[in-house]
Amino acid sequence: MTDHKNKKYSRVLLKISGEALMGETQFGLHPPTVERIAREVKSVHDLGVEICMVIGGGNIFRGLQGSAQGMERTTADYMGMLATVMNALAMQSALEGLGVFTRVISAITMNEVAEPYIRRRAVRHLEKKRVCIFAAGTGNPYFTTDTAATLRANEMACEAIFKGTKVDGVYDKDPNKYDDAVRYDVISYDDVLQQHLGVMDASAIALARDNHLPIIVFSLDEPGGFRGILAGEGTYTIVKD
Ligand code: UDP
Repeated sequence: MTDHKNKKYSRVLLKISGEALMGETQFGLHPPTVERIAREVKSVHDLGVEICMVIGGGNIFRGLQGSAQGMERTTADYMGMLATVMNALAMQSALEGLGVFTRVISAITMNEVAEPYIRRRAVRHLEKKRVCIFAAGTGNPYFTTDTAATLRANEMACEAIFKGTKVDGVYDKDPNKYDDAVRYDVISYDDVLQQHLGVMDASAIALARDNHLPIIVFSLDEPGGFRGILAGEGTYTIVKD
């Protein structure tokens, strides 16, 4: 097997979409699902791994959706960023309910709700084993939370981004539609971009590539999956050089 199976991670960033928090519902937050994911995070935190999180906002609002309905794009994007703050607060509440200390750190200043983003302060939180949940994306319209995740992972010197999805890795075609879809164990950033494999958007992949930040795509639906990978087990795809 490849060497990445034996890699020991000490600091990682977990990226999940907002939709991961919906469970079986069609919109918004499903608290039991949020709690289930919080337990997965706690099990990794219990290993002593320092954890950053970025959660999308697509379960509540997406900028593109709003602009397609005639809303001004940047305003719609700010609404999307605010949606990620709600998701971050829900995750904070679930994690703290399990006894894990957290900080929600927002790229848009809202002091009453979350800390402002100050890089060195966030690093200190991680060193003190607080889970840092980065909210409001990059703070800029026209970006996504995938790019925010890559940006924060680089800034926090994470060893990898763990992208939790509904499937256990990157396939050559949609495994839900094609029985003969093949999962990659390892794939390069350039192949992901050239083959338009929907791992993350292109700007996030390029930012990871330029900084040699591996992206590990795994199934968030697999109980114990996140912890398993950190222990060198499980199925996933690693995107790297
Ligand atoms: N967004 C943004 N800038 C960012 C991050 C997010 O404008 O840096 C907005 C954008 O409108 C996006 C929405 O927030 O559609 C929700 O984020 P995203 O679509 O990445 O969420 P996910 O698909 O991961 O749930």
